Amino acid sequence: MISFEIPEKISNELQMAKMVAESIMRQYSRYYDEHEHERPVEYINMMWPVMREQYRRRAEKLQQNGNGSGPAKREGPDFSILRLILMIEMLSWGDAGQYLCTPDPALGGAALEAVGTKEQKVRILGKFGQGDPKWGAMAMTEPGAGSDTGNIRTTAVLDSETNEWILNGEKIFCTNGGLALDESDGFVVVWATVDPSAGRGGMKSFIVEPNSPGVTVTKKEHKLGIRVSDTVAIVFDNARIPHDNILGSPEVVNRDGSTKGFKGAMATFDASRPAVAASAMGICRAALEFTRAKLAEEGIVVDYTKPKHQMTSVERDLLEMEARHKSAWLLTLRSVVLMAHGQPNRLEASMCKARAGETVTWVTQKAVELLGPMGYTREWLTEKWMRDAKINDIYEGTKQINTLIVARSILGYSRRELK
Ligand SMILES: Cc1cc2nc3c(=O)[nH]c(=O)nc-3n(C[C@H](O)[C@H](O)[C@H](O)COP(=O)(O)OP(=O)(O)OC[C@H]3O[C@@H](n4cnc5c(N)ncnc54)[C@H](O)[C@@H]3O)c2cc1C
Repeated sequence: MISFEIPEKISNELQMAKMVAESIMRQYSRYYDEHEHERPVEYINMMWPVMREQYRRRAEKLQQNGNGSGPAKREGPDFSILRLILMIEMLSWGDAGQYLCTPDPALGGAALEAVGTKEQKVRILGKFGQGDPKWGAMAMTEPGAGSDTGNIRTTAVLDSETNEWILNGEKIFCTNGGLALDESDGFVVVWATVDPSAGRGGMKSFIVEPNSPGVTVTKKEHKLGIRVSDTVAIVFDNARIPHDNILGSPEVVNRDGSTKGFKGAMATFDASRPAVAASAMGICRAALEFTRAKLAEEGIVVDYTKPKHQMTSVERDLLEMEARHKSAWLLTLRSVVLMAHGQPNRLEASMCKARAGETVTWVTQKAVELLGPMGYTREWLTEKWMRDAKINDIYEGTKQINTLIVARSILGYSRRELK
């Protein structure tokens, strides 16, 4: 049976995350919203020693055990996934933009863990166990390829004389790409095609590190929300990457006919979509709790024993906000707990991502609406939460794309049959 019970050790860690969220993230939330592109140093300096120690131990384990290829085999559920998701929810309750600036391998790390070799993991993740703060990132989106990932045009060609990959193309909207390449000794996992005629079969991912020749961070986006988060474009102009930096096999199509490169990307989404949903749920809870508290100050409290038709419209709205938040959070936990138990969660990952993005957008708008003009001012954080919320409907697959995945999966249609 799958249980949602939270182990005591995780509950204690969550209390610590709550302290960081309250005493650091919330304190600087407005400042970094108004000073876009400044680094949230208070949060980063608080988190880095914790992250560094975590990755020092991870590197030590990798050195000692197995070949490190693919996810580790284990007995029983993997509670580290649940822990991560609960942390993301709590830190995003503090401030979703600052949470995205956590110095860690992030999406790049997820791709590396899914398909990297032991040597790659030790070399790249090992960097996160020492020195100054570092960031990882993943660059898939291009001017002509976002939802349609199979349309990627960035090319990777092997130069057999130097044994290097030569990358050409442009990536856009890369979260933490600037922090990873220009402001730390981090890395970006870049998706490119080794054979444009092979569609998804030709897609491969490459580890790109700072100071690689031909790699330039060209643009920092100005955004509606999560303004402290670093979002950049990266240009590859005959960029040279060591041969060993390809993730997975360089073969275009595997012998069994499968396309492991693209499957690696999809496996990364199975983990990253619940993470985005959890972040959305953190913002959602922040807005809900704040609204509930402000309305209570005015004497408006939901009486759950009252029939709905006897409630005021504000009480009904609050009830609806609570119900939608709860249902999206339970869907998120379901997808995470399936993953922790080693069960497939692709359908649930898309379900919770679509539902969480929609829910946080609606709940934060309702919060602004119910709180009236003060909810709309910069004195309170409600208007910021409303702006921060929307990104959860867009990245890691838009709501429409995740809904399509859910429909295909339930109805048994292929990608070609249901577009
Ligand atoms: C702040 C931010 C951070 C990001 N971070 C990253 C990152 O770190 N790495 C990365 O690789 N990318 C990142 N992205 C990119 C993001 O994942 C894409 O923008 C997103 O997947 C949408 O793709 P697109 O831009 O091509 O939009 P489009 O696909 O052009 O979408 C436009 C609209 O059309 C809809 N649409 C498209 N296809 C269909 C369809 N078949 N049926 C119905 N509707 C459809 C979409 O849902 C959307 O509403 C980020 C984006 C933002 C804004």
